[in-house]
Amino acid sequence: MSSLLGHSFIGFARGQSTAAAYRAINPATATALEPDFFPATATEADKACALAALATPALAALSGKQKATFLRDIATRIEAATPSLVARATQETGLPEARCQGEIGRTMGQLRLFADLVEKGDWLDARIETANPDRKPLPKPDHRSLLRPIGPVAVFCASNFPFAYSVAGGDTASAFAAGCPVIVMGHHAHIGTAEIMGGLIVEAVKANHLPEGTFSLLMGEGRVIGQQVAKHPALRAIGFTGSRVGGRALMDTAAARSTPIPVYAEMSSVNPVVLLEGALASRGEAIATGLVGSCTLGVGQFCTQPGLIVLTRSAAAESFINKLCALVTDCADGVMLTAGIHQAYQKGLTARAAQSGVKVIAQGKSSGQPNRAIPTLFATDAKTFVADGSLQEEIFGPSSLVIWCADQREVDAVLGALHGNLTATVHGTDAELGQHAALIDRLEAVAGRVVVNGFPTGVEVSHAIVHGGPYPSLSDGRTTSVGSNAIYRFTRLVCFQNYPDAALPAELQNANPLGLSRLVNGTRSSSAL
Ligand code: NAP
Repeated sequence: MSSLLGHSFIGFARGQSTAAAYRAINPATATALEPDFFPATATEADKACALAALATPALAALSGKQKATFLRDIATRIEAATPSLVARATQETGLPEARCQGEIGRTMGQLRLFADLVEKGDWLDARIETANPDRKPLPKPDHRSLLRPIGPVAVFCASNFPFAYSVAGGDTASAFAAGCPVIVMGHHAHIGTAEIMGGLIVEAVKANHLPEGTFSLLMGEGRVIGQQVAKHPALRAIGFTGSRVGGRALMDTAAARSTPIPVYAEMSSVNPVVLLEGALASRGEAIATGLVGSCTLGVGQFCTQPGLIVLTRSAAAESFINKLCALVTDCADGVMLTAGIHQAYQKGLTARAAQSGVKVIAQGKSSGQPNRAIPTLFATDAKTFVADGSLQEEIFGPSSLVIWCADQREVDAVLGALHGNLTATVHGTDAELGQHAALIDRLEAVAGRVVVNGFPTGVEVSHAIVHGGPYPSLSDGRTTSVGSNAIYRFTRLVCFQNYPDAALPAELQNANPLGLSRLVNGTRSSSAL
């Protein structure tokens, strides 16, 4: 693609690096794509951070309307550039065109959702405690608080979402919405797509007369350039989606800084699915079909892929597993995002197959083409699972582990042993769901989203979605990386004491000029004071 230069965006300037170049690879054919991409130099990464620091006060001063206009402008530019984004992303990721189109739609939807949110302003949680000079024994001061942007944010793109979790994805959209400058670390798996997207954001920054440091896009290795950015004194927070090893490395770097900063890393999740006997007896075939679809969707490369299937031995369960195995055996292999991810999948399968007490019970077909993952189903028993924590490690791809339990006590033991997950699912009849309230409570304890009689893949971007859960699914299980609540990750509370009215942010002024819903002396109100 001739319009790609292969250089980073350092604010409005392009990188000048002549360091060793790399290329994106088409995983479907294992061939390199033009052009060369040049890793940012250490000086360029420093410059991006310094520019972001300079841009911070101006971005923090933007009104909700100004931020909304900027976010919508990015979405409009993405809409216009969709054909070139899709053309490049399909080559770089092996993802089908329809998936790329859909993900671009979601990305624009996220930007517009945040635009709507910040335009209204209620999200800022404005609170006012009026003064009482006559209070005894001490006068009460005037206190007014709201959320302010945290400052420069580094965003590490995900391999498995070239749009929705990448350059203009949810982390970037929520950081911009909060009023923070963003430095993106492009993912080598789709670096050309990143360059096109980065160019669109830079154009939007200029068109909206925002400071140069509002946005930079760095090319190169996360382990080198990304680590440098993570250590930079100007940085205030990190958003990351990827492996547990990568997320954990950034958490450790951030904690070891002389000024530690928060890391919002979305890492690994195995998304347990508990199947109760009555549901299997009444609709086992439909559950098997839905489950195989969910396990293999996007070649299993979703963080919400159901990796654990928990059930108790019964005639209905045996017949369900027979159906599940037949469906998996019929599945074709699918091209994975990168050769590295494919190798990791193969390694994961080999290691699991060699584990004592675990066996392969079904495997799909192989086409013999490069970088293809074959859907694979393993089985073990509850005692083996509980005793071996490594069986909870994510095998990123279309593979799941069936856990056979002898009785409800073993199901409880399995659920009690679970680490944190993004989702947990239960299938049961109405009567079973009523009888198993404690089981559902156990699922809530280990996951950010509990699904009843459905499947965990397919994440709705909304005000109520939670895409987060206890560690290791998220580094900070109090947050979400999808949906409008993701904005709170890039904010901090500030209280203004005894400020003159005119010096206060508009959101906190007596007249309530923005018409916000505020907590005034403990009572919610949209009125002026
Ligand atoms: P990754 O290796 O964690 O990389 C994600 C991003 O973080 C890349 O830009 C990478 O840069 C950077 N990074 C990795 N290690 C780092 C470190 N120590 N310090 C700073 N930056 C670092 O994930 P991936 O490339 O997307 O896929 C590899 C594996 O991650 C998969 O096989 C899968 O197991 C897992 N994964 C899980 C999910 C999920 O949703 N659960 C999603 C995607 C991937 P460089 O590679 O350029 O250094």
